[in-house]
Amino acid sequence: MARIDELRAGLDHTRDRIAQAARAAGRDAREITLVVVTKFFPESDVRLLAELGVTDVGENRHQEAQRKAAACADLGLRWHFIGSLQSNKAAAVAAYADVVSSVDRAKLLPGLSRGLRERHPAATGGLEVLVQVSLDDPDAAHHRGGVPIAGAGELCDLVDDTDGLRLRGVMGVAPLGGDAAAAFRVLGEVAARIRAEHPGADWISAGMSHDLEPAIAAGATHVRIGSAILGNRPEIK
Ligand SMILES: *Cc1c(COP(=O)(O)O)cnc(C)c1O
Repeated sequence: MARIDELRAGLDHTRDRIAQAARAAGRDAREITLVVVTKFFPESDVRLLAELGVTDVGENRHQEAQRKAAACADLGLRWHFIGSLQSNKAAAVAAYADVVSSVDRAKLLPGLSRGLRERHPAATGGLEVLVQVSLDDPDAAHHRGGVPIAGAGELCDLVDDTDGLRLRGVMGVAPLGGDAAAAFRVLGEVAARIRAEHPGADWISAGMSHDLEPAIAAGATHVRIGSAILGNRPEIK
């Protein structure tokens, strides 16, 4: 099968799953943004996805993201940085990302702000930021990143107070081998508390290839889907 046909089939199937999950939850599927996670896949796939109507793409490694965003600058895509971020790379990420979904500590904020200002000295719109909230059991062997729930409100306040950054909501990754539905319900509660303080922070990024249904049931506005569309990646790390 030609690559574009594989990608079209993956997209069609994923869009059907999103539509079905939205219907089951009594929600409008148009409230849900599909972010296609293109990490490990070539720029040529990003081009085909854009041809197929994809508007939002996600990357989790800075160097790869930087290279692809530059190579695909003509496509007008929105680039979501979804990976763990080093503070010495934050300014560089803000130079190409439209959304940073994985802000998990205050130390990242000055760099993001500076990078955004270097890119758009006078922009008023700002860099869209999600605070990544940890949904792991504190005793878990594997941590999927994020600020502990107890610190999420304070970090959101700090994002909101940082020049150039626009707090849009929260992001979460279900615990490995855990109960994704329960974790996403917790994320939904955290999101509601944050929204009460910051009404513009109404995004919830949750759900990947294997757990988009419980994420949508719990209120996700953004799902981050890689392998269900692009196929299996080479093993990470
Ligand atoms: C890789 C990745 C995804 C996509 O995962 P799939 O299981 O391939 O859909 C989503 N979110 C984050 C944070 C990721 O790193």
